Amino acid sequence: MTTQMLRNSARDAEADARHLIFPLVPREDIEANGPSILMSGSGMRVTDQHGTTMLDMMSATTRAGSLGYGNREIAQAMYDQAITMHYSGAGRNTNAAAARLAAKLTEITPGRLNRVTFTSGGSEATETALKIAKQYLQQSGRKPRAFKVISRWSAYHGATMGALSCTDWLAVRDVPDPRVPGHSFVANPMRYRNSYGLDEESYSDVCVAHLERQILLEDPELVAAFIGEPFQQANGVQIPMPSYWKKVRALCDKYGIMLIMDEVITGFGRTGTWFATEQLGIEPDILNMAKSMGAGYAPIGAVMTRDEIADGISHFRHVHTYAGHAICCAASLKVIEIMERERLVETSDVLGQQWQRAMKDAFGNHPIVGDIRGRGFWQAIDFTADKASRAAFTDDTVVAIARRARELGVIVGPIGTAIEIAPALIATREDLAECTRAMAQAIADVARHRDLAGN
Ligand code: PMP
Repeated sequence: MTTQMLRNSARDAEADARHLIFPLVPREDIEANGPSILMSGSGMRVTDQHGTTMLDMMSATTRAGSLGYGNREIAQAMYDQAITMHYSGAGRNTNAAAARLAAKLTEITPGRLNRVTFTSGGSEATETALKIAKQYLQQSGRKPRAFKVISRWSAYHGATMGALSCTDWLAVRDVPDPRVPGHSFVANPMRYRNSYGLDEESYSDVCVAHLERQILLEDPELVAAFIGEPFQQANGVQIPMPSYWKKVRALCDKYGIMLIMDEVITGFGRTGTWFATEQLGIEPDILNMAKSMGAGYAPIGAVMTRDEIADGISHFRHVHTYAGHAICCAASLKVIEIMERERLVETSDVLGQQWQRAMKDAFGNHPIVGDIRGRGFWQAIDFTADKASRAAFTDDTVVAIARRARELGVIVGPIGTAIEIAPALIATREDLAECTRAMAQAIADVARHRDLAGN
């Protein structure tokens, strides 16, 4: 594309964008600052409508663009599939790409998860998982009346009504619609900072005890499922205490509750293993995935379970028109092929560890940096106004640091008290080093400008 063409189409795009409804931002923000329109991308870099090229450390904002921009192999696979057979399927009908992908997924997922149903994204995956859990308990006769679902504070499981009902994130939750009945929330494990000032292990026990109390309060016969993310995104990559998930698994077994693991963000190598569940030492009953499954090229998600549960459902009462769409499945198969061929899961693990150490060396001692944590290519820097008490900033300091990093040419994601960094798995050592340098400078600049501790 010539520079002149880019300029013309950028002007057109800005005019056209006035017709969009922008999610997650107040309207005044768009009116004051205008939209950011990404015009083109190549590898790790993206160019906006002003012609500014940036290092994208957020995998296309969504954390889904796990193989970077402009991947011709994926585009070709989608093209080839489109002109051969685009069909998705329902009832007895399916397509060969969906069948191949289902078989392939059973190889790369942990434990005995070997039955698959597809969706177009993460929220649909949550809805589908909840329906599998309830229909299994009902149709197998194990718990015919169970409909309740327990999830955790700060959870994100999606924006559609069932998924929203187990989501605790004000940006999407603070709406007037009533929630689906029977959903409740329990404490979520956090290591660096919790609301009660408890040490890690005591707080982990509180979270587990809270879950058991809630199960009893709701009546175990009525509780169908517990859903959680292996590592929560809220306030930046929360790695739970080592015993937490094993104790949750034991409680679910004790009360016959389906354990749904939401790996929509963490799946497909993001945390240094194909799925984060592998790092927890437990097996979920149902596992959800989306995002990096199509590397941002195709909207696709999946819900997996094991034979006993799939076969316990004699008639699955559920359908989505585009579930198992052949073009999306072809894209996902190519994504998996590339990840295996390039050994990108190992890269995420090895480079992720080195990168975390490099960040700790570069700015871990800065007075406003409280914690640097994460796994693989999912890292977070949690900020504090006071290192001793670990108090969070109550103003917009964290957002200002992310904004400064963007001015310096690196896209990162502020999330509550932290900045989240989730690069594509193709990021090189040099890309990670560039990000570390930009973050060091952004932190120093904002701290100096705002006269924060130590400056
Ligand atoms: N679950 C988790 C853990 C997520 O991070 C997300 C998306 N941020 C969703 C579900 C919902 O996915 P989608 O936006 O594709 O509907």
